[in-house]
Amino acid sequence: MSSTIHDRLSSLPILFDTLALNELPFDVQTQIAQIDACLPQTQCGLCNHPDGCLPYAAAIVTNNEPHNKCVPGGQPVTDKIAAILASKEHLIAAASKWTIETRTQRPQEVRAVIREDDCIGCTKCIPACPVDAIVGTGKHMHTIFTDLCTGCELCIAPCPVDCIDLVTIERELSIYEREQEQDDLRQRYYTHLERVTKQLADTSNSRPVVSMVEAKLNNVANQTLDISEQQAKDTIAAAKLRSKIKKLEKQLSVRANPAKQAELNALNIELSQI
Ligand code: SF4
Ligand code: SF4
Ligand code: SF4
Repeated sequence: MSSTIHDRLSSLPILFDTLALNELPFDVQTQIAQIDACLPQTQCGLCNHPDGCLPYAAAIVTNNEPHNKCVPGGQPVTDKIAAILASKEHLIAAASKWTIETRTQRPQEVRAVIREDDCIGCTKCIPACPVDAIVGTGKHMHTIFTDLCTGCELCIAPCPVDCIDLVTIERELSIYEREQEQDDLRQRYYTHLERVTKQLADTSNSRPVVSMVEAKLNNVANQTLDISEQQAKDTIAAAKLRSKIKKLEKQLSVRANPAKQAELNALNIELSQI
């Protein structure tokens, strides 16, 4: 088991360079990897570690952070970490806004679903997803692979038209299935980080930095990005215009209205000029 743990902490994405895990004593590394192995890997940041589960695992061991902060993990994860630390302190798991399921003792699981008719194709949700569960392209409808979504909720806030809903799900996982899923999610997150790192290093890509993890990655890599402020403003303005246009089109499809038709024509011209 030790070699597997050690392997897992080598060749990490550069986002984790500042943790300097390879410089820690082997037994400390082992404890961090064991804790990371039992964390849900949704990378939701609710433990106050927006970089994800591994930095929280490291902070528990090297910075004496309380071991009850993983919200989706609930009491089972808090107790498991206590056992790894051989801690006699019994901590109650951090509160969740979702009800605690009697069966799992974890918060109710949710998945994100895009109301596709309302999506304006602004692409803002895509970089927010740590496991690359959202597909779509500019000005086209986006969708979420429900099987890949972890319900981390990170795509909700960036959506300018609030068209992403959370739906509850019921499922039963064996210990083995949960561990497999966590391993897969960890790998998906690391692959996501590596892809974003490559994008940031590509100087022909002038897309603005759009997520906190991207900004951190950019700092870690100490690279200069050609971020055009105007481009960022245009993207937001276009998203707002598309939202207005969509609303007007819906209204006009029900009843003709010359004033609204004129407003729609003007908005379309404005959008075409951006
Ligand atoms: S799943 Fe738990 S440990 Fe991972 S980021 Fe979310 S709260 Fe933190
Ligand atoms: S689709 Fe949204 S809720 Fe689901 S994993 Fe991605 S960011 Fe999280
Ligand atoms: S952020 Fe919202 S509107 Fe923009 S592409 Fe995603 S789901 Fe569609």
